[in-house]
Formats: sequence, structure tokens, C-alpha cells
Amino acid sequence: MLSYLKDIGLGIVTVLKSMWVACRHLFTPAVTLQYPTEKWTMPERARARLDNKIEDCIGCGQCARVCPTKCITLKTEKRGKEEPEVFASDGTPIKMRTYVYDIDMALCCYCGICTFSCPTHCLMMTPAYEYSVYDIKNHIYHFAKEKPSTAPLPVDPPVIKA
Ligand code: SF4
Ligand code: SF4
Repeated sequence: MLSYLKDIGLGIVTVLKSMWVACRHLFTPAVTLQYPTEKWTMPERARARLDNKIEDCIGCGQCARVCPTKCITLKTEKRGKEEPEVFASDGTPIKMRTYVYDIDMALCCYCGICTFSCPTHCLMMTPAYEYSVYDIKNHIYHFAKEKPSTAPLPVDPPVIKA
């Protein structure tokens, strides 16, 4: 009987304690956001979706080599000697034509290692975090704008995959 009464007393104390905790927060400002109408302001250097300023990509493949999840696929070929010289915005000559540059954002773990290895800093992480899709295939981002040359290549183009 004594233990029964003790249990009831303990139950009442527990309820009162939890109500006290709830009441303490009744008049404090809410920390939740009414997403998606309200949104966080992301920090300036937030690491979310990747972007590639492909015009500055020299096709070196460093990013694909260091990527721990192997989510970058790159295909390049040498530019012909007769073609006009092309330079990245930092002055680096672009000797390779990158005709496939894909990032599978569904595999990316947002480590940012690829951006540190990029010699022309064309690969960067942006604060964009709202890019959910219904079809996971749409998480493969295609950045390349150039087409491979029609002339037969002396060797198979290097394929750096993932
Ligand atoms: S952020 Fe990390 S996981 Fe994502 S592509 Fe770059 S190296 Fe790969
Ligand atoms: S490291 Fe930079 S320049 Fe090299 S292939 Fe990747 S994105 Fe292009």
C-alpha cells in the first residue's frame, strides 16, 4: 500500500515538474521557423550545393580524383593545336576540352575537398540548400557546355569516374 501511494506521489511530482518546464518556455521567443514561408539566412560560407563555373575549368580532373564518394564524372580531350587559345579567368591556359562534367548531388557528402583541390577555383560550394527532386536522376548536374571534337582522337579520351 505504501509503495502504491509512493508511486502516485512520484507521478504527481513528475507531472508538475514537466509542466513547470513547459510553462517556463511559454513566454520565451520561438526558435522554430514556419518553413517554407520563413527561411534561415545561411552563413556566407555555408557548404551546400556545388556549382562549377565551367568556363574556368581546365579539365585537370583533380576534383574527381579527390572526391571520397566518387560523384564527379569528367570526360576531356586535348584541344587541337589549330584551335584558338583559351584561358580561364585567372589566366590559366585551358588545354583540355571538358565535354562531360557531371556531379551526382545525391552522392555528394558536402565535404568540400574538391573545391580546395581545384586550381582555378571554378568549383565552389554555394549556400543553396533547397533542391529536392522527385526523381533522384535529376540530382545529376551536367555542367559541360562543349561538345567533343568530331575528328577521331588519337587515344580514348581519359574518363575519370566516379
Ligand atoms: S563536396 Fe566532397 S563529396 Fe561532394 S563532390 Fe566535392 S569532394 Fe565529392
Ligand atoms: S579541379 Fe577544377 S579545373 Fe580541375 S577538372 Fe575539377 S573543376 Fe575543373
